Amino acid sequence: MNVYLDYSATTPVKPEVLDAMMPYLKDFYGNPSSLHSYGRENKKAMDTARDQVAKTFNAKPEEIFFTGGGSESDNWAIKGAAAALKTKGRHIITSSIEHHAVLHTCQHLEKEGFEVTYLPVDDQGIISIEDLKDSLRPDTILISIMYANNEIGTIQPVEEIAAIAKENKILFHTDAVQVYGHFQIDTQTLPVDMISVSAHKLYGPKGVGALYLRKGTKIHNLIHGGGQERKKRAGTENIAGIVGFGKAAEMAHENLDAHVKHLTELRDHLMQGILENIPNTRLNGHREKRLPNNVNVSFEFIEGESMLLSLDMVGIAASSGSACTSGSLDPSHVLLSLGLSHEMAHGSLRLTLGDQNTKEEIDYVLEQLPPIVQRLRDMSPLYETMKEGAR
Ligand SMILES: *Cc1c(COP(=O)(O)O)cnc(C)c1O
Repeated sequence: MNVYLDYSATTPVKPEVLDAMMPYLKDFYGNPSSLHSYGRENKKAMDTARDQVAKTFNAKPEEIFFTGGGSESDNWAIKGAAAALKTKGRHIITSSIEHHAVLHTCQHLEKEGFEVTYLPVDDQGIISIEDLKDSLRPDTILISIMYANNEIGTIQPVEEIAAIAKENKILFHTDAVQVYGHFQIDTQTLPVDMISVSAHKLYGPKGVGALYLRKGTKIHNLIHGGGQERKKRAGTENIAGIVGFGKAAEMAHENLDAHVKHLTELRDHLMQGILENIPNTRLNGHREKRLPNNVNVSFEFIEGESMLLSLDMVGIAASSGSACTSGSLDPSHVLLSLGLSHEMAHGSLRLTLGDQNTKEEIDYVLEQLPPIVQRLRDMSPLYETMKEGAR
């Protein structure tokens, strides 16, 4: 059996999304900036996609800007705000468990003379509102805190953060890449200024995303050139990608409740099955304030990488840490922020679910995983020592 459990790394493109994209790859190849009919057709398609995405945020179409994905949206929001507000202040607040697209951008700005506070998280991965309030300064210009974490699925108190930002007249950006398509984000009720999202995490194509930019929010451009995206993001538009993104966003929000219910049931079944049947195992992240599709567990006495290879041999695709950190041997900064030891951080397994997964697949994983864990532990000298001690 083949079971894909790495939906937080990326998702397959839905057939309906691909169908919507095809004409813009095959027939309507005009440049949307051109005045002839080839271009006009594309302009219309882009307007439709912008409406579709705007609707998912309860926003106006002119508040949606298409980008080259979640990383670009994060970079644009943070660097653009920093550049626009640097005469007002140079202090930025973020968290220690952000995606690298936020973290490395902030580190880059530190080299340019900005000061960044990286809020710590508790052992469940949640920032403290008190810490946030304490870190505010007269020169704070931006708060950037992710909506939900891509590794451990923890959801931050975004409403409270947004309220504090608003009260103190500080811009608030949230990386909502992992929440988009799982929760409704209503920009009429949530006072957030900028939101980053990405198409390929919601059954759309890779290399396209959006930045929601609340009307009146002034940030500098990241990409300079032609006048596309109302002069805010240069470059000939990725029409097919944008059309696919619009379709994927619309479809995800049509079935939000049913989708989340399906995922939550599977997640709980998987989580319980692992924690109840495999000893010396820890759940990473908050039990309830958690994405409906995320299971992240650490197994004592095991290397995550060897577990991934063993799972792959029986057809199960999972990840350890995040896709960006696996491949390197550094343990995940997110797991270390929770206070995990290097050993436990290395022994982590992330299983992220999607709408193609079934109960049978989860049962298959629950049948395959325990013997793999046992076999790897039997090879571990530390495990032997632990057993000796217990005797
Ligand atoms: C995947 C991801 C990104 C990056 O999005 P890309 O479209 O792959 O650039 C940013 N933030 C989070 C939380 C993500 O999960």
